[in-house]
Amino acid sequence: MSAFLQKPDWAKAQREAHRILEESAIVEPPVNPTRIARDLGTNVYFVTFAPQSSNISGFYDCDENAIFVNKDEYPLRQTFTIAHELGHSILHGEWARSSEYKILLRNSSATSEEVHEREANAFAAHLLVPRFLLDKYRNRLSADQLSTLFAVSAPVIKNRLAFEYGNQPY
Ligand SMILES: [Zn+2]
Repeated sequence: MSAFLQKPDWAKAQREAHRILEESAIVEPPVNPTRIARDLGTNVYFVTFAPQSSNISGFYDCDENAIFVNKDEYPLRQTFTIAHELGHSILHGEWARSSEYKILLRNSSATSEEVHEREANAFAAHLLVPRFLLDKYRNRLSADQLSTLFAVSAPVIKNRLAFEYGNQPY
């Protein structure tokens, strides 16, 4: 069955993100995915890609067990990319070795509907903005303040708030 027709396993993405947060003893934002990756034995390298590859945000190299991140991108984008690629390493080890694996592009509309990409995005969202930390701060802070506190972009915070609590005005 084509990966494009599979349903994402949202529960697994969420469960694995929470398991890692617990094992890393994270109790306050911001979550640092670089530190988590390195603690798990996955190296993270900030590199300059060749001009023809400069639209790449990053990728996971399973042979090296390493995440390569475009050092010219915005820090918040890099944070999400690292969490996304960590999701591939944890959820998709076998797939990441296959030819189906696609690198996360800056404008990834072509691959964004693909099941592994959606699972990696869900993993990243739950890792960087876990429900238990949102519960703690969302009534005290605006979406912009939450964005700063959690060190993620405003759209990521808004998606997480909508996902966990429904669409409410902030
Ligand atoms: Zn990806």
